[in-house]
Amino acid sequence: LGVFRPNPLPLSQNLSRLSKKLNMQSSVLGFPRIGKNRELKKATEAYWSGKIKQEELLATAKAIRAEHWKLQKAQGVDIVASNDFSFYDHVMDHSFMFNAIPTRYQNLGLSPLDVYFAMGRGRQEATVDVPSQEMVKWFDSNYHFMRPEVSDSTDFKLNSTKPVDEFNEAKAAGINTRPVLLGPLTFLHLAKATKDSKVKPIALLSKLVPVYVELIGKLVAAGAEWIQVDEPILVLDLPTEILEGFKPAYEAIGKAGAKIMLATYFGALKNNVEVLKGLPVAGIHADLVRSPQNLDAVLPILSKEQVFSAGVVSGRNIWKTNFQKAIALVEKAVAALGKERVIVASSSSILHIPHTLESETQIKPEIKRWFAFATEKCAELAVIAKAVKEGPAAVRAELDANAADVKARAESPITNVKAVRDRQAAVTPAMHERAAPFETRIAAQQEILKLPLFPTTTIGSFPQTKEIRVTRNKFTKGLITEADYQTFIEKEIKSVVDFQEEVGLDVLVHGEPERNDMVQYFGEQMEGFVFTLNGWVQSYGSRCVRPPIIVGDVSRPAPMTVKESKYAQSVTKKPMKGMLTAPITILRWSFPRDDVSDSVQAQQIALALRDEVQDLEAAGIRVIQCDEPALREGLPLRTEDWAEYLKWAIDAFRLMTAGVKNETQIHSHFCYSDFNDIFDSILRLDADVISIENSKSDMKLNNVLSQYTSCIGPGLFDIHSPRVPPVTEFKERIDALLKHIPKERLWINPDCGLKTRAWPETKADLENMVAATRQAREQY
Ligand code: GLN
Ligand code: ZN
Repeated sequence: LGVFRPNPLPLSQNLSRLSKKLNMQSSVLGFPRIGKNRELKKATEAYWSGKIKQEELLATAKAIRAEHWKLQKAQGVDIVASNDFSFYDHVMDHSFMFNAIPTRYQNLGLSPLDVYFAMGRGRQEATVDVPSQEMVKWFDSNYHFMRPEVSDSTDFKLNSTKPVDEFNEAKAAGINTRPVLLGPLTFLHLAKATKDSKVKPIALLSKLVPVYVELIGKLVAAGAEWIQVDEPILVLDLPTEILEGFKPAYEAIGKAGAKIMLATYFGALKNNVEVLKGLPVAGIHADLVRSPQNLDAVLPILSKEQVFSAGVVSGRNIWKTNFQKAIALVEKAVAALGKERVIVASSSSILHIPHTLESETQIKPEIKRWFAFATEKCAELAVIAKAVKEGPAAVRAELDANAADVKARAESPITNVKAVRDRQAAVTPAMHERAAPFETRIAAQQEILKLPLFPTTTIGSFPQTKEIRVTRNKFTKGLITEADYQTFIEKEIKSVVDFQEEVGLDVLVHGEPERNDMVQYFGEQMEGFVFTLNGWVQSYGSRCVRPPIIVGDVSRPAPMTVKESKYAQSVTKKPMKGMLTAPITILRWSFPRDDVSDSVQAQQIALALRDEVQDLEAAGIRVIQCDEPALREGLPLRTEDWAEYLKWAIDAFRLMTAGVKNETQIHSHFCYSDFNDIFDSILRLDADVISIENSKSDMKLNNVLSQYTSCIGPGLFDIHSPRVPPVTEFKERIDALLKHIPKERLWINPDCGLKTRAWPETKADLENMVAATRQAREQY
């Protein structure tokens, strides 16, 4: 009463408006949270360090959310997600919201927000000392989530109304959003039982689902019509008890009053599509970028009313979408279902892509036109939807420009370098084989290296002090000359070498002071890579990374590490270990190309690095370590695809390293201890020495250790912690390892590089490590 309302339109017009609106909508499954200039990261870290108050952090977050909703709308996206925002991690948001908060975070006298942050990053103060939850990689992306912990006593209930609050917030800003929730099966499949509980998380499904129903009821009451429920685990090999959970869970959720868009992404559904059949959900989303076959898998199982959300714009890479291909897929869906039942969508949340291309002022225009970052992907979705809805003529200019960009990329000399392709064509099996087997090689190496029993070494980097970072920045900005920078780096190398001699290590390293990052450093010196100024993506919590982009065929114009290694060797008589990053790690920690396969890219990188290995050898470097920490995380999501991946991934390592003489010792390094299921592949690397993380693994490696046939250095101390183990503890660890490893094959080293540590603890750690090694040499 008394509220002014415009006269309603005649019913017929109203209906036609409505049907137009439902016709070919575009949708984004989730948007990056960190803000155009990492505003969220900065505000969160300022809050953690006490520089700003909670209210200010909350206000910043609210402003970021509003900006992102408006941005997507302005780009023409019809269906925009809410609750895609997170202060730390969306999986942890759900743990917190469902009250799956382990007891160690409760009763600490913290505010709810601080309890939440404690779950993500731990908390250490005079009276409080709790570690964070376990951090796990999110499927095969470089995003990490905090693993939910549940037990029989977990009292699932709505502990927060975040999704409702954010829905209302968007509504107040004039935007009707589709809230997104992580589905119950995915939540429980990714969860683990708390230490004191033996419960299988999936056994808790019937306790958890009512909380979803309650939450969805609240969202409906607030006005939400559709709700996106993510079940990405449907692209994994799943145990039956998980698959069987879908029906009861969604039968309950389906009754909660909302239209459910059940979203799957990151891969092929394959047989899992069966569990979707007959579920009372209003729509199904599938990733057609990773798996165009999903279209044929899903279409036949849809009921007459169900909507299909076609994920045709990648949420995982930075490449411009090929409109022609995307439109063809959408039209195929439309032919089967009609325009009212098809939505044009991002393949997954676009969380994994930098915010906007606009900031990238230094990328050459002829390459920049190949890219679309998050903001640009939104615009792409709108164009594709319009092309299908109104016909190509409606977006002729956009389609033509896109076709021209796609063509320019395909024809660019950068993406097709004859010398690189010729070299690949000439690769032979023999190039993957060392000249002699390990036994022969190690004898030849020992003759030159003359290492004592239990050789001691480190993994490569030494503390990256503020001075190092500041000086490197000055050099990058052109504030100091190359000569001055070089002098500085040599001074650093010399002092690290002197330090290692004093401590009494056997195989030395140069300390990596010249490296900003173990991938970027190499990418910057190879052809085929470009770098962004502001292309940040969230890795975990407030940590963001700026991955290099592989744009073309990769080659190495000149040596990349020889100068530093040679200098380092010149100031010591002890063997100096050259330090390289291996192909899979370079590939995995970059945005790869989508126009050639990963295996082709890995081989190109391997050939470039093969030259580096041989140049190091020619420069007198006798030991060369090729770090491959990303080998394991590159494993495909489905086990049936592992063998093929491991074949080319290990081949790439062998191609990089096998060209050296028997006398040259090849090391490799891995930052994980999860070896059991890829053990054969680790053997197939045919490295002379490997180092692996071990100090926190409670000897779960034992089985592997005793079967390993070359030299091995299981890490003896945790480089993530400032705690210094006493000599006795080092000695106990060595004794324990010798129960499994023959003494002539055991190496002594830390878990990983020392770049994040401070000098005092580094010195104490290494001194104790060497002291314990000396005791062991006496004894054994
Ligand atoms: N050589 C690298 C270092 O010591 C290895 C880092 C890694 O494995 N992540 O820093
Ligand atoms: Zn490591």
